[in-house]
Amino acid sequence: MNHWYQKTIHEVEQELGTSIETGLSPSEAGQRLARFGPNELIDRGGKSPWKILLEQLTGILTIVLIVAAVISYFLGDVKDFLVILAIVVLNTLLGFSQEYRAEKALAALKKMATPHVRVRRGGHVHEISARDLVPGDVVLLEAGSIVPADGRIVESVNLRIQEAVLTGESEPVEKTTGAISRDNLPVGDRRNCGFMGTLVTYGRGTLLITSTGMQTELGRIAELIQGVTQEPTPMQRRLEQLARTLAVGALIIVVIVFVLGFLRGEELRLLFLTAISMAVAAVPEGLPTVVTIGLALGAQAMLKRNALIRKLPAVETLGSVTVICSDKTGTLTENRMTVTILDVANHRLDLKEEVQNFSPRLRTTEANPGLIKSREVGLLLAAGALCNDALLEEDEQEPGVYHSVGDPTEGALVIAAARAGLWKNELEAALPRVAELPFDSERKRMTTVHRWPAQPAGLSLLEAVPGAGQPLIAFTKGAVDGILEICDRVLVDGQAVALDEAWRDRIRQANNELAQKGMRVLGVAYRLSEQAEVQEKGLVFVGMVAMIDPARPEVYDAVRTAKTAGVRPIMITGDHPLTAISIARELDITRDDRAVTGQELSVMDEATLREVVKTTSVFARVSPEHKLRIVEALQANGEVVAMTGDGVNDAPALKRADIGVAMGITGTDVTKEAAHMVLLDDNFATIVAAVREGRRIYDNIRKFIKYTLGSNIGEIVVMLVAPFLGMPLPLLPLQILWINLVTDGLPGLALTVEKAERNVMKRPPYHPREGVFSRGMGRSTLLTGFILGGVSIAVAYWAWMTGQEAWRTMAFTTLTLTQMGNVMALRTGNESVFRSGLFSNRWLIGAVLLTVGLQVLVVYQPFMQGIFETEALTLEQFGVTAAASLLVFAFVELEKALFRRADMRQP
Ligand code: ATP
Repeated sequence: MNHWYQKTIHEVEQELGTSIETGLSPSEAGQRLARFGPNELIDRGGKSPWKILLEQLTGILTIVLIVAAVISYFLGDVKDFLVILAIVVLNTLLGFSQEYRAEKALAALKKMATPHVRVRRGGHVHEISARDLVPGDVVLLEAGSIVPADGRIVESVNLRIQEAVLTGESEPVEKTTGAISRDNLPVGDRRNCGFMGTLVTYGRGTLLITSTGMQTELGRIAELIQGVTQEPTPMQRRLEQLARTLAVGALIIVVIVFVLGFLRGEELRLLFLTAISMAVAAVPEGLPTVVTIGLALGAQAMLKRNALIRKLPAVETLGSVTVICSDKTGTLTENRMTVTILDVANHRLDLKEEVQNFSPRLRTTEANPGLIKSREVGLLLAAGALCNDALLEEDEQEPGVYHSVGDPTEGALVIAAARAGLWKNELEAALPRVAELPFDSERKRMTTVHRWPAQPAGLSLLEAVPGAGQPLIAFTKGAVDGILEICDRVLVDGQAVALDEAWRDRIRQANNELAQKGMRVLGVAYRLSEQAEVQEKGLVFVGMVAMIDPARPEVYDAVRTAKTAGVRPIMITGDHPLTAISIARELDITRDDRAVTGQELSVMDEATLREVVKTTSVFARVSPEHKLRIVEALQANGEVVAMTGDGVNDAPALKRADIGVAMGITGTDVTKEAAHMVLLDDNFATIVAAVREGRRIYDNIRKFIKYTLGSNIGEIVVMLVAPFLGMPLPLLPLQILWINLVTDGLPGLALTVEKAERNVMKRPPYHPREGVFSRGMGRSTLLTGFILGGVSIAVAYWAWMTGQEAWRTMAFTTLTLTQMGNVMALRTGNESVFRSGLFSNRWLIGAVLLTVGLQVLVVYQPFMQGIFETEALTLEQFGVTAAASLLVFAFVELEKALFRRADMRQP
């Protein structure tokens, strides 16, 4: 059988029943999708509901409980057997529903994380999810894309692909389109094919899809684990360790209780079950899982705010971020570029003044050739539109109104040209492109070579080009400083004159003056040539185009919020230092009037850079590799760094950052793959919102831990102290299980939806190495536990001493209710509950009411009384337990008030 690489493009086209020009029809694509299935690798990451259930049932404590139940049965205690099983079932259901929700949230995130591709179908280019690709689809590739399926390359413009996933070879392969006749060619040598999962590092091209999903080379080795990864987070690891330590402690205490009970002559069977229940109660095995659930639900909440989490630990780290390094264009600004100034030798045109009702969009009726007041201006506009990959498109809703599609910088140029009556499609028809060198952020420019029209008449602007006798003309546009370096002449009144120092100074000055106003300035130059190859030297400078890109309105607030939260925003941009400073000052990112440039960075050693990043907030004209150095310098200073990026070369910096942030709209697949988080709206404010969300989740997990451990400590205190007071076992095994596995669970869950604390963005970030129990939480948890236990044992002792029959039920109820008092108070962190509203978390109120209801049922309902060996409490007795609960509530509130005062006194 012939391989795809051995066939000509035409043969492949025919065999796949498709056309490169128009692609598949949408209906045919739909049918093929049904036949071939979605383009995805069989997912080995996610958990099925069965697996979750199995994991729940095979948890060590569940097994211990089941064993205990079985032993009870053989000891003839059918009731305990049934109740323990019932409790196991309830607990499993609770655990299952939590994990299932978390798993669903993660699966949804994974779906969101699959890249989008540009595909030609029915004659139009559409953006679709890579999952929907089918054999026969025509996919457009550009630098930064991940090849979404296997296919035959049918167009290559300097297309280079890095295929290390398949071949291990990290050097990118230059792609070709012709058939290769050799047999048995290994994957790495099939230069006319593209393979799923490989990275386009340079150029652009078109891929005709031949196989998808598991049929691809990658599918065959099925090695890529894509999407959201799930490693234990630092907090999880710490909690696992904590759980282990506590388990050992708990077991020692269980042994003590057992021995003490034995010495008192308690019934052995009762002691055995008590020991087991206490072990189950005291070992906080659920903590690490709770963190996963908290983080997964957090990730879901963040998605609602346009932040897509790709790596779960990011949710946790986000709260600790101390520095946000952000791109300028599109993240801090709107990326709605509009050309306002055209500047050529001896002439400057302000479009805002020339055009009535100036707006970024263009009506056909507004196109006005009269704007071209000199031939240089005409050439500037035409060159800007030709050296350009953006397109003009008519509005579907509003015929006659045009907008641009593609890179906004280039779109602005296309619109500006059309405003003067130079329509890009007409220009391109007259001067077809024959070669090009694409834009990259290293060179900061782009060049295209065009064939000269056979009859220049009609395009009078080309008369502006002196000496036009050669067959080809190349246009270059890019950063003015760079363009000046490759020019040796400048166009002045129809003459190409030498670009001497005086001219250079004049151009630089004009450039600075425009940049100072916050504008992005591009220089445009041309070069006549004989051959269709790109040479970026010896050019003739034509002029400059300046465009405005307003700051995003929501960023002003976001910057302020970040600063009060102890998070420093830093701007890192490829743009001109003056443009950068102007925008940074406007947004209050800096008050300096100088930016550090990439050139300065290049000659700095690490030690100097570490000092510089302490105070510098604006870096301009930087290349992607500088970003990596900046991240490293910041990290060496102990900062926790979030770093944004969109280009192919940003990936290493994003990987290195504590939180790599990719742009969802303008970002390339490669950066998204490397990132921990993707901004679906490319907005700086979204990063700040995510930081806030991260802090909220971290706080809530801390609250959960405090709540759970408080209860555990309380019970242990009760069980441990009672024998020393000469009392019999104060809680029965089933009561202990009930408290831990049922009444504790619901309110605990509701804590994960607790709103952010009011001061969440007014306090400094937690350092990642700062333990969960930092800032007084460890002490406070212990103290609360002791108070809970102390109050409960006091109530029990008093009732026991005064000979009340129901003393055990009182101990039992006091423990449950004091926990409710605890949760109602601790839910708002250090702020008073009364300030944020007693009823502000409806879920928690519901959970508490339900729990109290269940407790009342267990205490008063005869059947339940039989099972839990409880006795109905008199109103007075119940009143005492409720008062104990209020006492605990008051205590926690008081502790918070004292903490707040101490906090205020801190410098
Ligand atoms: P950031 O997004 O990091 O703030 P940026 O997007 O402004 O930076 P780049 O896109 O790398 O940075 O652009 C850097 C410079 O390259 C710009 O200031 C501009 O002079 C030039 N430039 C940008 N886009 C193009 C383009 N399409 N063609 C030619 N030159 C360009």
